[in-house]
Amino acid sequence: MSDNAAITVSHLSKQFDGIEVLRDIDLVINQGEVVSILGSSGSGKSTLLRCMNWLEQPERGKIYIGQQRIGIREDNQPMTNKQLSKIRESVGMVFQSFNLWPHLNVLQNVLVSLLHVKKMHKAQATEIAIQQLEKVGMLDKKDSYPITLSGGQKQRVAIARSLAMSPDVLLFDEPTSALDPERVGEVLAVMKQLSQEGYTMVVVTHEMDFARAVSDQVVFLEKGKLIEQSPPEQFFTQPKSDRVRQFLTTLDGSI
Ligand code: ADP
Ligand code: MG
Repeated sequence: MSDNAAITVSHLSKQFDGIEVLRDIDLVINQGEVVSILGSSGSGKSTLLRCMNWLEQPERGKIYIGQQRIGIREDNQPMTNKQLSKIRESVGMVFQSFNLWPHLNVLQNVLVSLLHVKKMHKAQATEIAIQQLEKVGMLDKKDSYPITLSGGQKQRVAIARSLAMSPDVLLFDEPTSALDPERVGEVLAVMKQLSQEGYTMVVVTHEMDFARAVSDQVVFLEKGKLIEQSPPEQFFTQPKSDRVRQFLTTLDGSI
């Protein structure tokens, strides 16, 4: 395993109800890289992302976060929840549906994990939360409740909440798919800024312009197989596989 790897996926396979939805996936994401994962609905993108922080348990293969294997200990036993939680602190996840607490205001949403997972003192946690809310342009809404926010604003709070935990890697599962079209740009702008700051990011997305402009690598899944991994220029102009060429053709006009 390379010293520079943020996530290493090796020979990963996963079944649901006897049906293989990930097939022998190999993928290395280096520190500071942005990797976009593309593919049609049902191709296994979310499952791959969820395996990376062991929200799904694969039957075969290994996943390392940095140099640390997730899910299975050195003695081959499953990790305890406590051991998993510890590793997951370094893997932030941003969901399509935001997953904010409705009964907590914006600041409290960002504070929760700092206080209860990281066990920080309130003053220090608040300082960090304020910093991260400022970064995503949501500090002026710190006392607002999620229900009063637009989707784009909610997603920016969710990103601030992830950033506050100082993760080594950020996983995004279609972060803009639930948004009104006019709100997509503000979330992508925050993500682009994070990439420029050097965050390691794995992004499942249908935003082709973003994937092309911001990614270091583009990965394409088809029926649970990783069929192409290329730098964006190559992926979008000279794909190696016919399937990707066909996928890009169906997008013509929409990008
Ligand atoms: P994508 O994110 O690319 O749309 P998913 O990873 O969500 O694809 O799903 C891949 C396949 O696995 C699909 O056929 C889906 O129906 C199936 N699947 C996903 N999650 C579950 C689950 N919890 N139980 C059973 N089947 C699932
Ligand atoms: Mg999905």
